[in-house]
Amino acid sequence: MAYSSEVYAAAKRILEERRTGAQRLAELKKADVYAKIPEIRRIDSELSRRMANLSMLVLRGNENLDDVLSEINAQNDAAKRQKAELLSENGLPADYLEPHYTCENCSDTGRKNGMLCDCYKEICRAEAQKELAASSGSAECSFENFDLSYYVDNGASDGTNPRRKMQNYYNFCINYANGFSLSSPSIIMIGKTGLGKTHLSLSIAKTAAEKGFGVVYAPAQKLVSNLEREHFSYSGSDLFMRKYTDCDLLIIDDLGAEFSSQFTTAAIGNLINERLYENRPTIISTNLSVKELTERYSERTASRILGEYKRLLFVGEDIRFLKNR
Ligand SMILES: [Zn+2]
Repeated sequence: MAYSSEVYAAAKRILEERRTGAQRLAELKKADVYAKIPEIRRIDSELSRRMANLSMLVLRGNENLDDVLSEINAQNDAAKRQKAELLSENGLPADYLEPHYTCENCSDTGRKNGMLCDCYKEICRAEAQKELAASSGSAECSFENFDLSYYVDNGASDGTNPRRKMQNYYNFCINYANGFSLSSPSIIMIGKTGLGKTHLSLSIAKTAAEKGFGVVYAPAQKLVSNLEREHFSYSGSDLFMRKYTDCDLLIIDDLGAEFSSQFTTAAIGNLINERLYENRPTIISTNLSVKELTERYSERTASRILGEYKRLLFVGEDIRFLKNR
């Protein structure tokens, strides 16, 4: 899982809120119980005093430390039993005064024995899905609502059957999404506007994000303007570059719609090369034909996309018009 820095920051914040929330609630309950059952306050101060004494003995180095320790443990156990009895007499559970963390495994720290806790991974996954939905509006696009009936089911003028072809692509995309891994191939979806390229790429994105992969969706125009701003701000920050380079799956939507400059074509070329080199899959959708791709980007970039990406050539009529008929 390679998520954006925003996702990691959000996960850290959520854990902190959970942790401090549980501790604050425990403090409030303690104040309430102390007021109602003063004996418990006395027991707690005894417990603290004994622990402070123990620390002093450890610091000073006491030769009978083991004996002292077992005596203090016995006293503490008795005090805790007494406390539990008092709570029980007042109709409260024995652990009433302990903080109740959302994750008991890691006490909402996100780590246990130096390993990432499952709760942390779960928070990251949920945050990454939220980030993806916010950046793409992907909540509406899924495999379930991809409608093949918009594609004509007969021979098109070029001799292909659009519905059959799109059915094959649809099946390919579902299998690709369900089996997605960092060794999955990159994909380029080529075809006119309104043929479902964005819908299918977002459906893949959503499934991969649900599986816990860090997915970033970016329209080409936005991607290059973010990189451009970052590059020319001379701030030394490379947050966007890292986000697009390091995520598990990058979706570049509508490649070719971006304003073209020496910088933008070089930036896209570098990104594509680096992701291929690092074995990180990318899905590109574009209205450009193969010929236009070759003309617009450097020969090296175009040949890498056309040579190493799985190519899907979308066919049919613009679905957006068919839907409005
Ligand atoms: Zn946990």
